Amino acid sequence: MKTHGNYDVIVIGGGHAGSEAAAAAARMGVNTLLLTGNLDTIGQMSCNPAVGGLAKGHLVREIDALDGIMGRMTDKAGIQFRMLNASKGPAVRGPRAQADRFAYRDAVREELENTENLTIKQAMVEDVLLDENGAAKTVICSSGWAFEARTIIVTTGTFLRGLIHIGPAQVTGGRAGEPASMKLSETFEKLNFKMGRLKTGTPARLDARTIDYSKLTVQPGDETPLPFSYMTDKIEQEQIPCHVTYTNEKTHKIIRANLDKAPMYSGQINSVGPRYCPSIEDKVVRFEEKSAHQIFLEPEGRNSIEVYPNGISTSLPIDVQIQMIRSIEGLENVEILRPGYAIEYDYIEPTELHHTLETKKIGNLFLAGQINGTTGYEEAGAQGLMAGLNAACKALGKPKFVLDRADAYIGVLIDDLVTKGTNEPYRMFTSRAEYRLLLRADNADLRLTAKGIELGCVNVSREKMYNKKLEALQLANDFIRQLKVRPSEAFAAKVQELSGNYKDTQTLFDIIKRPQINLAMANEFYPQLADLRPDALEQVEIEAQYDGYISRQREDAELLRTEESFEIPVDFDYTNIKSLSNEVRHKLETFRPATLGAAGRISGVTPSALTSLYIYIKKTKTESTMHE
Ligand code: FAD
Repeated sequence: MKTHGNYDVIVIGGGHAGSEAAAAAARMGVNTLLLTGNLDTIGQMSCNPAVGGLAKGHLVREIDALDGIMGRMTDKAGIQFRMLNASKGPAVRGPRAQADRFAYRDAVREELENTENLTIKQAMVEDVLLDENGAAKTVICSSGWAFEARTIIVTTGTFLRGLIHIGPAQVTGGRAGEPASMKLSETFEKLNFKMGRLKTGTPARLDARTIDYSKLTVQPGDETPLPFSYMTDKIEQEQIPCHVTYTNEKTHKIIRANLDKAPMYSGQINSVGPRYCPSIEDKVVRFEEKSAHQIFLEPEGRNSIEVYPNGISTSLPIDVQIQMIRSIEGLENVEILRPGYAIEYDYIEPTELHHTLETKKIGNLFLAGQINGTTGYEEAGAQGLMAGLNAACKALGKPKFVLDRADAYIGVLIDDLVTKGTNEPYRMFTSRAEYRLLLRADNADLRLTAKGIELGCVNVSREKMYNKKLEALQLANDFIRQLKVRPSEAFAAKVQELSGNYKDTQTLFDIIKRPQINLAMANEFYPQLADLRPDALEQVEIEAQYDGYISRQREDAELLRTEESFEIPVDFDYTNIKSLSNEVRHKLETFRPATLGAAGRISGVTPSALTSLYIYIKKTKTESTMHE
């Protein structure tokens, strides 16, 4: 067969997974081709014009720490930045930003067009052909183009046999205005991949000129917006406010009266949607007791009249959408620019994948993003990054690059997908991570950038910046851990006053472990603190405040890493360990894992349960050897 080029890595699809995959492979220095259905929709945000949030913000910081693009693009295109859970502990704080959807898309395209080793072409891929050993080799496009590669990554999002629903109306499409990918689904079927069907939805888009903002509550961004990327010094652009409104009894009445026309309730859609991002019709049915649901009106762009009403995703018929939305305060005269809709699409069961995101069935074929059953730009980007790095490693003959559950949320995401699979759209939550105190959004660079440098996916300027940060951290650590505060000093008197009991000399590090004391209180007594970098001081302060817990999580994580293959006797009696909860004991009795690693992969089995299990079995083994 005549082909039109030979590459190390071919990425199919230029969404969030595909953009990260293509950029990552190219950063590794391999010859990369990105094929996407439409050049103009590279980096397109199909739904909410926002990046980050709880746990999702962690993923973006981790992508950035490995020199990925999502964080930097959001910093360029962001119009409102907020740190969610700012008043809570550092483990659950999540950076989030509203983005100008158009600026974001342009920024991603510009970034990819200026990436060395990367070629981009507009093409709809219809088939992937195998070589004589059954490994993926050639991609066939609808235009007649054919390309060969050492490795191929498929990142086709919601496009595989996509079917759009607006009330009873149905039309095939990958998302509104774009054709579905029908033939590529057949390829996966032909190759005997386990597949399923999922559903997601989006709200109508509104005309800002027809919204009565005078009736609504303003929601401003943070006073000092914090960037996503470790490479961005400061967010310079002006921030734009969002507004808040609510559904009401009238809205709910309209929805209830028309449920028989909602595809989810009329039986027209049977596939499962995102449980944590339900449509408004779903909310009204599931939370019958609630008389109002919050809606954030988010501008789609700095120079656009389009507004995204976050919280009322729907697939009701257009007439009902109009009636329902106009029953909401501030939206009485609103004009709809684009109707809301639901979409059903094929996904590949992610247990078909190795941790590298290469498929188990077909060598050299990798999958990333929504095709693996996830939902969200961040989840897609994280997988794209890892698939891009691993596809490049494979093409280069380098060892695979895998992050574990104690390294990163990326590790949690991929481990969950490939070991447990999913039958509903999977999104990330902080509660999915066992080692939350280790995996904070503020320390993603300290966890991952050195690994990226060693792998070769981090550029020189980031490497330099990272090394400077390590030096700053060393200085901050030395100062805070070595500074001894005698009881006679003025600061000791303040500590005594605020937290009591200051008799012996203590280090500043020990003092800031007290819940009533923080580092800022020491500033006026030790002016040297002003010479230390704020981000380095923040790290040392968090380490001090959560010292015991962080050490415990590090020990638990280390145990699992070193004792992954530690054997659990087949007939082990789990009732012997009194500290196990009933739920954990029941799961262990049901699955009877052979090793500690296998026990750790059972959902709900916590690191502390594993530690108890390990200590108990180890102790009984030692005792029985002593008696022999
Ligand atoms: P996409 O961003 O969909 O990108 C796929 C890319 O592949 C596109 O560029 C497309 O042109 C290209 N492509 C497809 N087929 C081919 C082919 N055969 N050949 C070449 N190129 C191809 N996420 C949430 O977190 N919350 C939500 O509420 C939410 N709602 C959504 C509602 C709708 C209607 C849609 C469509 C998506 C929604 N999402 C939501 C999901 C979010 O958009 C995705 O999770 C994210 O975009 C997935 O990224 P991806 O890279 O996997 O796929």
